[in-house]
Amino acid sequence: MTRGIVALFVLAARLAAAQETDAALLARARAILERAPLIDTHNDLPSMLIERNDGDLAGLDLGIVHPELCADIPRLREGGVGAQYWSVYTASANMKTNRSLHEALREFDVVLRLVRSRPELELARSADDIERIHRSGRIASLIGVEGGHMIEGSLAALRVFHELGARYLTLTHWDTVEWADAATDRNEHEGLTEFGESVVREMNRLGMFVDLSHVSAETMRDALRVSRAPVIFSHSNARAINPHPRNVPDDVLQLLPKNGGVVHVNFIKEFVSPADPEWQKRRTAALEDLHTRLDDQKTVDAGIANWENPHPGGTIAEVADHIDHIRKVAGIDHIGIGADFYDGGTTSMVPGLKDVSRYPYLFAELLRRGYRNDELLKIAGRNHLRAMRQMEKVAEPSLRGGSARP
Ligand SMILES: [Zn+2]
Repeated sequence: MTRGIVALFVLAARLAAAQETDAALLARARAILERAPLIDTHNDLPSMLIERNDGDLAGLDLGIVHPELCADIPRLREGGVGAQYWSVYTASANMKTNRSLHEALREFDVVLRLVRSRPELELARSADDIERIHRSGRIASLIGVEGGHMIEGSLAALRVFHELGARYLTLTHWDTVEWADAATDRNEHEGLTEFGESVVREMNRLGMFVDLSHVSAETMRDALRVSRAPVIFSHSNARAINPHPRNVPDDVLQLLPKNGGVVHVNFIKEFVSPADPEWQKRRTAALEDLHTRLDDQKTVDAGIANWENPHPGGTIAEVADHIDHIRKVAGIDHIGIGADFYDGGTTSMVPGLKDVSRYPYLFAELLRRGYRNDELLKIAGRNHLRAMRQMEKVAEPSLRGGSARP
């Protein structure tokens, strides 16, 4: 054999060994997720079902793969999902027409019918429920309300949401509300107003997580000051890795050990990739250039659609970098998963993590980085369960859990 051929053989053997290791890591990751349970705190399937055909579930078989949707039973199973928070979401633009509560009820209706329609799903109202349902081999289904505009300034609406099964309320969505500032809108109240503080206190009393994804850093700090229970970030990453305002700054991460809260990282490429801010700048410049040269919106839209600068996209390793950073600043007890799948995933999510079947690949990457099994169990779901039990303890005893009551 010539030296070249020998070198090729050696290379092939090395590649095979590396692949074997990858396969072994993936198998280990899958086994860990089976035990965990894996809890994902954000998935927008309900909104997709409303957009698809007004939330009509007849004629939709979620027992088979639907690549165009952000979840179905086979892919949830493949991904090892043990509990899923289904998102009740309506655009904050509905604030202008006072339609938010009406639209929120449509979303609750879809989630509740969705859960009833599948024998693999069961509504969970407590941490005990999540563990019981997971042990039974089904997928625990929870409800998270994404945006404080949906209570329309009414604590009564908040209480009814809790009664319907909501276990978190994200204080804002993209826009600032009357009582809390959003991360991506004007800073109107410098955090929470007095009413905003009373919303947090009522959520503590009811036993609902205060969700600080989407809110401004001032709102995060105010909520952490007021809340007697652990807070969550249902789908947010680390600002030190990607300085997007949707991500969590270090000084807030440092407050989590005392509060007990958990940051659930998402897989959205815009919030993951450290190269995103630079790309956004170039895109804004390209848009400005088009606006100077062209005079109607349609040709500008077409121009930017043809702009040949693909988004940097992000990688599984970069999602793991966010997790590494949160571990470094807040600690291993304050990390969870909230992927935020909201469409078919091909253009929105980090390549390699485009749908609910892909969680094991992220956990394999964490194993490759030396995370121990018990640390992975925490990230997958045990941190969330621990925080949820602390949150339930703060709640008024008559309101805790819910499944045991008539
Ligand atoms: Zn969101």
